[in-house]
Amino acid sequence: MPIPDDATLTHQQVPPLAVLEQAMRAAIAIAERAKTPFGAVLLETSRSTIAYTATNKRLNGPFAHAELNVLRSALRQRVELGGLVLVSTAEPCPMCAGAAILAQVSALVFGTSITTLAKRGGRQIVVPSTYLAAHYTEHPVPVTGGVLAELTDQLFPRR
Ligand SMILES: [Zn+2]
Repeated sequence: MPIPDDATLTHQQVPPLAVLEQAMRAAIAIAERAKTPFGAVLLETSRSTIAYTATNKRLNGPFAHAELNVLRSALRQRVELGGLVLVSTAEPCPMCAGAAILAQVSALVFGTSITTLAKRGGRQIVVPSTYLAAHYTEHPVPVTGGVLAELTDQLFPRR
């Protein structure tokens, strides 16, 4: 299957845009407080509340991405992550998107796309999360990109 571009996004089983934007604003706020562009939250869909938050922790090594960190936080307290939507300021890298899909979050949501990150000089493995989601046969995970991208893009200035 060819790697789709950003236009191939689904909106199935995804909370309303207003709720996603509220969660994205929370992700942006925790990123800004931590002085990193990468912030991620897990949105509890049943109550539209933020259940967990995390940022990148570069000092903890190359795998300490915001998305993996927030998934780890949740998995310390619960076995399954269904009912949680991963909301990230940037499109998850293949490692993080794969982890979220395997953890069976309800949906993946991001602001800035991985292609934009790469174009702006960030080191990226440019595989869109839609590609990974489309290749997981067990549990379809809807992917929605570009949520408040006009704000998240500002977190990633061109290098
Ligand atoms: Zn990652």
